[in-house]
Amino acid sequence: MGERVLIALGGNAMTSPEGSASPEDQRQAVEQAMTHVAALIRAGHEVMLTHGNGPQVGNILLKNQLAAHVLPPVPLDWCVAQTQGTIGVLIMNALERALAPRPARVATVVTRTLVDRDDRAFADPVKPIGQYFAEDDARRFEKLGQSWKRLERGWRRVVASPEPIEILDAAPAIALMEAGYIVVTAGGGGVPVVRAPDGTLEGVEAVIDKDLAAAALARAVRATALVIATDVPGAVAGYGTPAARPIGKVGLGELRLLQAAGHFASGSMGPKVEAALRFVAGGGRRAVITSLEHIGTALEEPAGAIGTILEK
Ligand code: ADP
Ligand code: MG
Repeated sequence: MGERVLIALGGNAMTSPEGSASPEDQRQAVEQAMTHVAALIRAGHEVMLTHGNGPQVGNILLKNQLAAHVLPPVPLDWCVAQTQGTIGVLIMNALERALAPRPARVATVVTRTLVDRDDRAFADPVKPIGQYFAEDDARRFEKLGQSWKRLERGWRRVVASPEPIEILDAAPAIALMEAGYIVVTAGGGGVPVVRAPDGTLEGVEAVIDKDLAAAALARAVRATALVIATDVPGAVAGYGTPAARPIGKVGLGELRLLQAAGHFASGSMGPKVEAALRFVAGGGRRAVITSLEHIGTALEEPAGAIGTILEK
């Protein structure tokens, strides 16, 4: 029986192994990623896709900064929307190619995600975005109203990463999926918007975590499985220590205990584990965290499955 699966693609599905995001690197990485996604589709699963966009937004921000004397920089929510379009098209082309000669029905939905204007993240922006800069540059951008922080390798812009409350454009994504399309949606966590008192929406300077947005999207589209594809075979307890232990099949209680004990780094594995917990606690059947080449095993090879597989 096919499952309804939301696959969340991490950075390595869209950039070279070294993290380079030239157009050719992105195209090649997406093509490689789609060979794995196509295998799930051929196996009869109903697939929806979402993806990260960190390096791509970083590229746009840099162009904004370099061209600021010619064209006013565009706001961050516009940058996210741009990456949804570009990455969506790359995925559509690559998926059609990977599924050929079978005709593929693919579509990308530009997606807004609702956040709360009073989210505490706005008072204390901590999510680093874009390139590293020298202190002089950082101070100049601070005068334009941005927040910058000194990190290990230099200065980096930091922005709010508020909680995704609702995937506002889930309805058209569901309608297309039910019409038989493979839909790419909520890229980069979605374009962050807040609701004004009169009910209208407006974009905000923020980025939404793509894994947390994926958990919300997976629930909204009633996926049975949330598959988080990244560059490691699974979550590890004691990561990077001599006591490292891969986490395979796991239940809510045990994974929550490991999370509370601090086993998952906040900017990387942390949100994936949190997304898996939210999805399964909210009624999803199964959440999987594994590397791109193993995304099918939890659905196809229950005995030999590779990765962290959370079930209630
Ligand atoms: P993606 O781009 O796929 O979202 P991230 O780089 O954000 O991926 O997160 C994956 C990374 O998380 C891995 O490459 C690994 O270095 C790091 N990581 C941190 N803590 C853990 C852990 N406990 N188990 C496994 N990987 C971890
Ligand atoms: Mg990464």
